[in-house]
Amino acid sequence: MADLFAKRGRFTQARDLIRAGIYPYFRAIRESEGTDVFVDGRRLVMVGSNNYLGLTHHPHVLEKVTRAVERFGSGCTGSRFLNGTLALHEELEERLARFVRREAALVFSTGFQTNLGTIAALVGKDDIVYCDRDNHASIFDGCRLSFGVTKKFRHNDMGHLEELLAEGPDEAGKLIVVDGVFSMLGDLANLPRIVELAERFGARVLVDEAHSLGVLGSNGRGAVEHFGLEDRVDLVMGTFSKSLASIGGFIAGPEGVLHYVKHHARPLIFSAATPPAAAAAVLAALDVLETQPELRARVTHNATRAREGLRALGFDTGDAETPIVPVLIGERERTFLFWNALFEEGLFANPVTSPAVPPGRDLIRTSYMATHTDVHLDAVLRGFERAGKRLGLLDRDGEAEEVVRPRRAQRARR
Ligand code: PMP
Repeated sequence: MADLFAKRGRFTQARDLIRAGIYPYFRAIRESEGTDVFVDGRRLVMVGSNNYLGLTHHPHVLEKVTRAVERFGSGCTGSRFLNGTLALHEELEERLARFVRREAALVFSTGFQTNLGTIAALVGKDDIVYCDRDNHASIFDGCRLSFGVTKKFRHNDMGHLEELLAEGPDEAGKLIVVDGVFSMLGDLANLPRIVELAERFGARVLVDEAHSLGVLGSNGRGAVEHFGLEDRVDLVMGTFSKSLASIGGFIAGPEGVLHYVKHHARPLIFSAATPPAAAAAVLAALDVLETQPELRARVTHNATRAREGLRALGFDTGDAETPIVPVLIGERERTFLFWNALFEEGLFANPVTSPAVPPGRDLIRTSYMATHTDVHLDAVLRGFERAGKRLGLLDRDGEAEEVVRPRRAQRARR
């Protein structure tokens, strides 16, 4: 008889890395100042966080969090549907709807659940959902949970999307879902073309603004604002776990559609609500985001400085221009070794390997915050240079070896 647990013996990869002393995952942070974290008794510069505006430690955010805990306690102990809706959630939904200029918004407990709940609720058995191959895992899982058909198009390949849309029967309801900024390479979706195609083929569009909210657009409303397409995108999704310094997520769009989602999204109905502290943190983060546009300018400035510095050293950082700066390495083991060398140089970055990227296109993902100083950025560039030379990714004169200049940055995929 087959033993369900037999697979544990076949899974050796993680233990091999632990034995080799280069396992990079689940590293416990003992203390955090946002830009600086303490791991194994050492201070490291954090370049692996999505805390783009650096608001997790902002005094206004921390003060509002404390006040919410005093007023509502530590948790909601129930779902939004029954006992878990607080006045704070309603205030947050109104505020978010106003911020992204939509009729309504609906708050979920995580961004992941927002995508799961919204897509699975909206895409029924006669419907088709079109997904960029590089979309976030939560979008794919939402598609899998839905009863509709999922069609994946090659990353940002508008010809392929058009072909797939043209094949779909007219009577099927259609939804195109994309990340506004793709999470691994930091590049932007071709939203102008996507809305054109959607209009031509009668499809609705949902944009995941997880990595663009607070960062892109002249008011920080994200990729849709950046492209000036707010009237032509039906639904925008956002998460609180990045620029908004908290945890949770939301979907915003027409009131009638959200009313439907609110009564059909199982992750909303059957999972406990965002805790008071988390909701209050988002409201406070929005206060800061709306009154301090200089933070947006600063994160962009920091990422540009890091990207240019890394390129000047000889690393291949792809061609995106957002606070996500990938450093393409190539082979998996070398990526783990390089991650480890960076850690020893005092940097906390993220290794990204297959299946998050195609095999052989592994990378180190770095991301920047408005609160990084020039001292932090100097430390990042120095750390990359020293680690790169130590591993032979850069030659002694600082010139790139072939391995860090792969033919051309291929797209990450999920
Ligand atoms: N969408 C994208 C594009 C993401 O990168 C993430 C988180 N990495 C999510 C959704 C899920 O968000 P959360 O962390 O709030 O669950």
